[in-house]
Amino acid sequence: MTTPFAPVAFPALDDAVVRTFEETLRGRLLRPVDDGYDAARAVFNAMIDRRPALIVRPTDGQDVRRAVVFAREHGLALAVKGGGHNVAGSAVCDGGLMLDLSAMKGVSVDPERRIAVAEPGLLLGDLDRATQAHGLATPLGVVSVTGIAGLTLGGGLGWLNGKHGLACDNVLAADVVTADGRLLTASAEEHADLFWAIRGGSGNFGVVTSFTYRLHPVGPVLAGGLAFPPERTREALRFYHEFAATCPDELSTTAGLSVDAEGRPTIAVGVCWCGPLDAGERALRPLRAFGPTEDGIAPMAYSALQAANDASFPTGRQHYWKSSWLIDLSDGAIDVLLRFAAAKPSAATGIGLQRMHGAAARVNPGATAFPHRRAQHELLILAQWDDPAETDRHVGWTRAFFEAVRPFAARGVYVNDLGEEGADRVCEAYGANYERLAAVKAKYDPTNFFRMNQNIRLAG
Ligand SMILES: Cc1cc2nc3c(=O)[nH]c(=O)nc-3n(C[C@H](O)[C@H](O)[C@H](O)COP(=O)(O)OP(=O)(O)OC[C@H]3O[C@@H](n4cnc5c(N)ncnc54)[C@H](O)[C@@H]3O)c2cc1C
Repeated sequence: MTTPFAPVAFPALDDAVVRTFEETLRGRLLRPVDDGYDAARAVFNAMIDRRPALIVRPTDGQDVRRAVVFAREHGLALAVKGGGHNVAGSAVCDGGLMLDLSAMKGVSVDPERRIAVAEPGLLLGDLDRATQAHGLATPLGVVSVTGIAGLTLGGGLGWLNGKHGLACDNVLAADVVTADGRLLTASAEEHADLFWAIRGGSGNFGVVTSFTYRLHPVGPVLAGGLAFPPERTREALRFYHEFAATCPDELSTTAGLSVDAEGRPTIAVGVCWCGPLDAGERALRPLRAFGPTEDGIAPMAYSALQAANDASFPTGRQHYWKSSWLIDLSDGAIDVLLRFAAAKPSAATGIGLQRMHGAAARVNPGATAFPHRRAQHELLILAQWDDPAETDRHVGWTRAFFEAVRPFAARGVYVNDLGEEGADRVCEAYGANYERLAAVKAKYDPTNFFRMNQNIRLAG
């Protein structure tokens, strides 16, 4: 299988040429011998170990332009690292030029107009802190150390999705460096085709140097988790599915499956209510009436909720993930979920049902490039482990689980949770929007210069 991430032969670079390029940059250039090179090339998934020939750490859009032009003129592959959290490791390449955007963390918030302009090196927590200082937020994901850039470009599913949509639904404009080195603004008014494509089409179209987000009043929220008795896990899972299907937009939910010390599958439900707190208490009554053994739901600052899962995803671990959409939870699907939860290969390994609903689900599937618009669970099979010697066991469990659940899953996959899974799965990720995306790709990136991503093949 050829993949966009495979090592490519790259031309030897003349030192003098690299030095001349370095002098044009405001930010840093790192070679393999430089301090900081290994830290810069490291990504969240420790299974990924790639060595770019050069790393550029730009400080602004002009540096990004220079790096894009340099890479193109010298035949170098280009990888773009926002927060470095993509599980496929597409942020780093072997032997090309890696753009490490971590020095581009500027953010400005206009509380009157309720917009934030954010640079692509920000992590979720950085942006949440800046917006929450004004009691505002834009929808992002649920782990605060994830990068805003990759998350937003692929969709962005989090605690506010029911009320305010996906991250990409809240992008009002973006500045994008395209393959020809232009810095374009994409919005509903300018380059509307590009604007459409970057809201779900991931990194295929250029390097985004700034996002303008719509903000909403958010917080405090009513949030936390409930655990249910292991004897009732099957019943609780069925109940959760029915409950989640009737939740108002303000109440977004997730469920996590695990296993107790006696080998019994367990379920915990996480919630976030983003409306008046007394109404939230009422909306949660049926879930509480089901009889949880633990109830950690309480009013809290939105930023506290956003950071609550961080400890479950430390850096330096090996990761192998599979994901799919479950519209329904039939008895057959529940059987598979419980069987594989009971056989979970490590305590750190997670099984999640992240619910998409409400505003995120009501958007027309063709309105943005993100096509999977309907109320559904994203099933996340998240194997993580420390010792590389355990890789086969974790990968084997994940693959077996994924194959067993496949008959119950909808066609399609969320592009941001896709590993290196081949061209068919990439097609499924872009779904009915694939052809239109390929046409936009042919217009803005006719040589497929931006290919270190879940790559869209050119139209024709
Ligand atoms: C612990 C964890 C929790 C997560 N939780 C959620 C969640 O709650 N909701 C959710 O929707 N997703 C979630 N994800 C998935 C997440 O959306 C993807 O991993 C996403 O790619 C992360 O963005 P990043 O900037 O960190 O990625 P990176 O690995 O830096 O980049 C991934 C790809 O995005 C593209 N890219 C990045 N920056 C730019 C840019 N500025 N311009 C153009 N292209 C760019 C490139 O193609 C790059 O290869 C989670 C992932 C992890 C590891």
